[in-house]
This record gives sequence, C-alpha cells and structure tokens, in this order.
Amino acid sequence: PEAAGFGDLRAYIRDIPDYPRPGIVFRDITPLLLDPGALSAAVARIAAFASARDVQFVVAAEARGFILGGALARELGAGFVPARKPGKLPARTVSAEYILEYGVDALEMHADALAHGANVLVHDDLLATGGTARALCDLVEQLGGHVVGCAFLAELSFLGGRERLAPFDVHALVDYP
Ligand code: AMP
Repeated sequence: PEAAGFGDLRAYIRDIPDYPRPGIVFRDITPLLLDPGALSAAVARIAAFASARDVQFVVAAEARGFILGGALARELGAGFVPARKPGKLPARTVSAEYILEYGVDALEMHADALAHGANVLVHDDLLATGGTARALCDLVEQLGGHVVGCAFLAELSFLGGRERLAPFDVHALVDYP
C-alpha cells in the first residue's frame, strides 16, 4: 500500500550540477533516504520486481548500494553479500575489473559468499554506463551464482548501461533519458 501512495520517486532525487566534475549532473538520492515513506516505497517497489524470482542473496556495491541492499535483503527474506573495493574484505576474495573514464577499478567479493547455483539480485543505487553492475554480475558468475535480475533506484538510460548488462533483466524505478 505504501508503494502506491508515492507516485514518481523522481521528486525525491535531487540534481546537483557539476558534481563531482564540471558537466556531470549528480543524481543525489539522499532526499529519498530522508523521507520514511519514499524510502519504504522504493524498497517495496524493487522488492516487487524481485519477488517472483526466488532471490536467495542480494549482492550490492559499496557504498551507496549498501543502503537499500540490506533493506532489500530483509524484505525479500534473502541474505546480503557486500562487494567492496580491493583490499577491504578480510577473507579470501574473487575480483572483477571494470573500466572507468581514466583507467581501471575493481570490486571484490568473498570467495565463499555464495552457494553454487544461488539466485542473486544485483543492486546499486544508480545505473550509469553499467560498468559497476557488470562487475557485480561477473563476480556472481565466478562463484557459480545465477543473476536473476539487476535492480536500481535510477538509470541514466542515455548512457546505454542496460545494453552492457544484456542478457540480464534490468529494472530501475526512475529513468533519466
Ligand atoms: P557505472 O559503473 O558507470 O554504471 O556507474 C554507476 C556508479 O557510479 C553507481 O555506483 C553510481 O552511484 C555512480 N554514478 C555514476 N554516475 C552518477 C550520477 N550521474 N549521479 C549519481 N551517481 C552516479
């Protein structure tokens, strides 16, 4: 019911021009996080997308992916798996690299995080070029997991991230075309 009451969640995402660099419009989700109803609606709507997919784990990227990732795992009755920047996780890890505008970065996940064949929902706050989410999917597949969907609060569809994630099923609550 709270999911229906909130209309377009775009109203809760704030544009910050020229952050972190001139020419970039940063889509700031912190107003949505401040509003209990909007926060609850966002979690409920992403959970509704995932609910028929028998999700056993939610995999999310640090740092903003962790915020809704834990709430989603709780809502879906799933476990939560953090993907972190290199060197942050204490036990043995697997790693996936992704291309940035200048150079390469990587995400790591604990090597024993997923049961083989586990159904995984991949989550981040925002889908831009798709590099981050693609790395999350690669990590899941390295461990024999099955990506049942990729869900975001927002998507910058003009950057083509969805194509980058093909053939995975992608869902975003708000689009910036
Ligand atoms: P990408 O790997 O290009 O899909 O970038 C996605 C990641 O970068 C997410 O973790 C986002 O939080 C962040 N990001 C990229 N572009 C923006 C933007 N315009 N506004 C807010 N976050 C962004």
